[in-house]
Amino acid sequence: MNIQTPELLRETKHESAQTGCRLCGQQLRHKFVDLGMSPPCESILTADQLDRMEPFFPLDVLVCESCFLVQLKEYVGPEEIFTEYGYFSSYATSWVAHAKTYCEAITQRLGLDENSFVVELASNDGYLLQHFKPLGIPMLGIEPAANVAEVAKARGVPTCVEFFGVALAQKLVGEGSRADLIIGNNVLAQVPDLNDFVGGIKILLKPEGTITLELPHIEKLIGHNQFDTIYHEHFSYFSVTTIRHMAWRHRLKIVDVEELPTHGGSLRIYLAHEASGQKPAPRVDELLEREARHGLTDVTTYAAFADKAQRAKRDLLFFLITAKNEGRRICGYGAPGKGNTLLNYCGIGTDFLDFTVDRNPYKHGRFTPGMHIPILPVAAIDEAKPDYILILPWNFKDEIMEQMRHVAHWGAKFIIPIPYVTIIDPAELRK
Ligand SMILES: [Zn+2]
Repeated sequence: MNIQTPELLRETKHESAQTGCRLCGQQLRHKFVDLGMSPPCESILTADQLDRMEPFFPLDVLVCESCFLVQLKEYVGPEEIFTEYGYFSSYATSWVAHAKTYCEAITQRLGLDENSFVVELASNDGYLLQHFKPLGIPMLGIEPAANVAEVAKARGVPTCVEFFGVALAQKLVGEGSRADLIIGNNVLAQVPDLNDFVGGIKILLKPEGTITLELPHIEKLIGHNQFDTIYHEHFSYFSVTTIRHMAWRHRLKIVDVEELPTHGGSLRIYLAHEASGQKPAPRVDELLEREARHGLTDVTTYAAFADKAQRAKRDLLFFLITAKNEGRRICGYGAPGKGNTLLNYCGIGTDFLDFTVDRNPYKHGRFTPGMHIPILPVAAIDEAKPDYILILPWNFKDEIMEQMRHVAHWGAKFIIPIPYVTIIDPAELRK
């Protein structure tokens, strides 16, 4: 039991501001996992920042016994994270292709045309909405990060630089805009006030309109031990069960759900107004039943997760310590947000990894938050010829190992940290 002094309580003002579940208000009493203290994962550092104080916040995750929303308290305000954002969706080529396929399919499915109106929430640099342009469909992006919104506008994607919620939805409806399709891809997790956000969606949606939300599936996070996908920018982690509860609170309903391989296993959930004529597809109930079978409606399933994360940490550290004791050299590949959770939780600094590399030139010459590992261009691996390469964005591991299979020439091997440490010899990869 923690005994908090009044000073401590005052310092954690974000914590005291929120005492119940972000979705249903139930008092939170059950722990999912405690990953210790970590800096905001997107705040990579320049060389002159290394000697300064760096903010660390708890990565202490709880689960609601009533709606089963897995959640972090709002330690870091969205203004601190999203107003100047280092992530441009267009850098990931496979991501842009995924967006194009979606736009073409949804246009056909909903019969969208030049009289329709599409809104994307957290539209980033317009990587998705740009595909509606050749189809002649009017659209609007909503993106709070001004620097990425500028890129979208330059691309011809009209973008409103604001946070979305009830107030903005009312303003748009007042101006005569209501949406046939509202898209929210990988945004729901980043919303501190879920009910204000979903309330806004409800207001902005036409009576027969459709909402599609893409989000990582907590079933996969638990099943594949993806504890490193937890970070401060992600306040919430969802199952279909929880989304059904969220929809119910706002007089919406789930009409369809698809499973996608993105982010280690995601859901695309289709929602409509409760009163809409759209009928739910049978696979909605099938997925809800599967979640119940996998224990996602039982709080003890969530409580068991911490043991898995701790075991993965011990296994990875055991391997790295043994390799270093044998005089091996190790470097990282990638500097994604999830990498920083893993590195900080396990305490892996330059005592284990000489450096890491990334394809995004914005990150070159900078350092990972907390652990201060230098980020270099990918070519640094060919120069250093390390014995092991720890792949941090393991969701792209096949793509990365294919691009880097030449490291077999000097006998290097890949380390995959999740679900549990695995070593892969590129010489043994199938041609
Ligand atoms: Zn709840």
